[in-house]
Amino acid sequence: MIVIKENLAIIQDCIASAARRAGRDPASVSLVAVSKKKSLSAVLEAASAGQNIFGENYLQDAKEKILACPEKLSWHFIGHVQSNKAKAVAELFDMVETVDRLKLARALDKHARNCDRILSVLLQVNIGRDPKKSGVMPEDIEPLLTGISEFTNLRLKGFMTITPFMANPEDVRPFFRRLRRLAEDFQERGFFADLDQVQLSMGMSADFEIAIEEGATLVRVGTALFGPRPV
Ligand SMILES: *Cc1c(COP(=O)(O)O)cnc(C)c1O
Repeated sequence: MIVIKENLAIIQDCIASAARRAGRDPASVSLVAVSKKKSLSAVLEAASAGQNIFGENYLQDAKEKILACPEKLSWHFIGHVQSNKAKAVAELFDMVETVDRLKLARALDKHARNCDRILSVLLQVNIGRDPKKSGVMPEDIEPLLTGISEFTNLRLKGFMTITPFMANPEDVRPFFRRLRRLAEDFQERGFFADLDQVQLSMGMSADFEIAIEEGATLVRVGTALFGPRPV
């Protein structure tokens, strides 16, 4: 039980150091604790140590935890959203980081409206152009941003990416840099009102410090916080 608390303190130190190395305010980076396949008690342990944003990939598993946790926690959906799950995702989560198609955005908007919620969303960008990965290709971002801007109950906050696996985390750096440049391009062209507010969700246990050096505002860390997951 103590381990999660200790891991959290270590990760927060690493986040702060990486931010300072990059000349950034450590408060500009938030940790998303990825609790997929982890128990309710692990989540509560992290929450009692001050962690308040959690990331989940599997709806059913997440639902039980969300309903059992204090309401003040914030939940990010970070898995692939099947369209028939959009209603439950819109009802349960505060942010959906994995919007990659207009049809899904439309469904999330409709269900958010029906339950009178405003849902924050990120576009998942396939920055490595990996045909096996989900996410919108860079050239398809613009029409999707334009379409989403008309949805009243979605707030588009920025981009998320899952980078290709690299044995050496340093080799992931160019992908992080590319995502940040894309966000800057769209900001310059008026797609995001305020770049200071644009969220970049990138970096996981193996490479979150590099992601922060390259501009991440959200890092999604599971293993380094909660230990290895059951397969
Ligand atoms: C599982 C997962 C993570 C966390 O990965 P770790 O290597 O355990 O830190 C981050 N992002 C997404 C989208 C995931 O599915």
